Amino acid sequence: MAEFETPALKPYPEIPPIEIGAMAHSKPYVAKEDLQQKIGFPGELVDNWEQVAIDKMGELVNNSRALRVFLDSCVKCGACTDKCHYYLGTSDPNNMPVARQDLFRSVYRRYYTLVGKYFPGLVGARDMDQGVIDEWYSYFHQCSQCRRCSVYCPYGIDTAEISMAAREIMDTIGVGQKYCNEIIGKAQTIGNNLGLPEPALADTLEGLEEDIEDETGVTVRMPLDVKGADILLVTPSADFFAEPHVDGLIGYAKVFHQAGLSWTLSSYASEAANFGMFIGSYENMQVLALRIREAALELGVKRIIFGECGHAWRVAYNFLNTLAGPFDFLDPNYPMPQHICEVTYDLLQRNALRMDPSANDDMVLTFHDSCNIARGSRMGNFEGGQFVIPREIFKASCNHFVDMPADTIKEATFCCGGGGGLLTDDLVELRVKGALPRMEALQQVVEHHGVTHLAAICAICKSQFSKILPYYGFEMDQVVSIHQLVSNAIQLGGEH
Ligand code: SF4
Ligand code: SF4
Repeated sequence: MAEFETPALKPYPEIPPIEIGAMAHSKPYVAKEDLQQKIGFPGELVDNWEQVAIDKMGELVNNSRALRVFLDSCVKCGACTDKCHYYLGTSDPNNMPVARQDLFRSVYRRYYTLVGKYFPGLVGARDMDQGVIDEWYSYFHQCSQCRRCSVYCPYGIDTAEISMAAREIMDTIGVGQKYCNEIIGKAQTIGNNLGLPEPALADTLEGLEEDIEDETGVTVRMPLDVKGADILLVTPSADFFAEPHVDGLIGYAKVFHQAGLSWTLSSYASEAANFGMFIGSYENMQVLALRIREAALELGVKRIIFGECGHAWRVAYNFLNTLAGPFDFLDPNYPMPQHICEVTYDLLQRNALRMDPSANDDMVLTFHDSCNIARGSRMGNFEGGQFVIPREIFKASCNHFVDMPADTIKEATFCCGGGGGLLTDDLVELRVKGALPRMEALQQVVEHHGVTHLAAICAICKSQFSKILPYYGFEMDQVVSIHQLVSNAIQLGGEH
């Protein structure tokens, strides 16, 4: 199956002894010239790149007080060292969050601190050179920007921010990552990560409408580009075709149908994912955010709702208003943006959905809290809503649900291993090894509670699990969408 060894599942998580350089060989493909230029970066390594990189670093630390504080405040307490799934799965000490930060911090100290300038040896400061960039390219593409380490750091140092800054600097000198940059380019020109044009999208949606009608006898619409609809649904493009994502999309449509809500998808803004965040580029994030604004204006909608996608929700929740607002043309009675789980939860609270949880009795379910939702955003108007709301949807949709161990869920959730722009086949070894802590937690509830399925709320998590579950002896179809459970449980027919 692979040229590397899949880590063995252990009954209790173990902190592995370090193996220096164990993952030094892991590097994603570099973006070619055309991919770089398409999204505003140099096509190849620029002349005088060392100075360009140092200047960019200066610009970033000047613009972001948080980044400077993260770089200045680490006291080397060690609390983060065993918190990263990539360290736990690979044993490589450079995957300890503090060591990953130091790859960046050592260069920052050399050029932007007094002591580093005059006595570099005293503070481990080092020059920007080819060796630095090689290490950065490898290890800043071994960070899924999940923020788990920041939860355990007494200073709240967020390695994700440092990793985004490192990637932005690399893009600026012409050393970008193929997977992310290719996707950003496609989404900016065609409207979605898959490069799915409008006719193909319309065809797919029509096919799904037929499938639902065949299965339920009820006509449930999947509207596209309908002017005057109340709601614009922006969802990850994986929802249009991949399993189990598409079953989630069917679930959203059934919820809208039963609640009598008027909605539409947009072929212009047919992507919720925003990979600009993974490479730390606000300019690229903004291009996609503006497509959503333009689509909302063009269609004349009153609300914008996001489908199941972790980082898309983080971008939407944290940045959409800043990047593309004000959204003062929308109905102020609804949150902007709103998550599909918030919508379903609200309808459940008001008894507006007819649910039969026994429809999912063939499954014993557990839930993978996605990092970007758990630690990078929120749901609902109460603290911890991002943990409560999905679990309330489980309660309404199925009879058999059990959580994984407490130190692996909610705020402490482990990354699936494929987030942060790493969901590419050229990083499959990293993805498999980085999934180890989540797989060990899953194994525990499988053994002790007979769990059969793992539900997720993020397109990247679903794709990652479909790929890596078989490496650990599970089946790829053991991963499901939350709205797939809603779809199974909702009782259609008799709506007005
Ligand atoms: S943000 Fe996540 S992946 Fe990155 S160092 Fe921290 S724990 Fe590891
Ligand atoms: S927990 Fe925070 S302060 Fe401690 S070593 Fe890690 S990053 Fe530094």
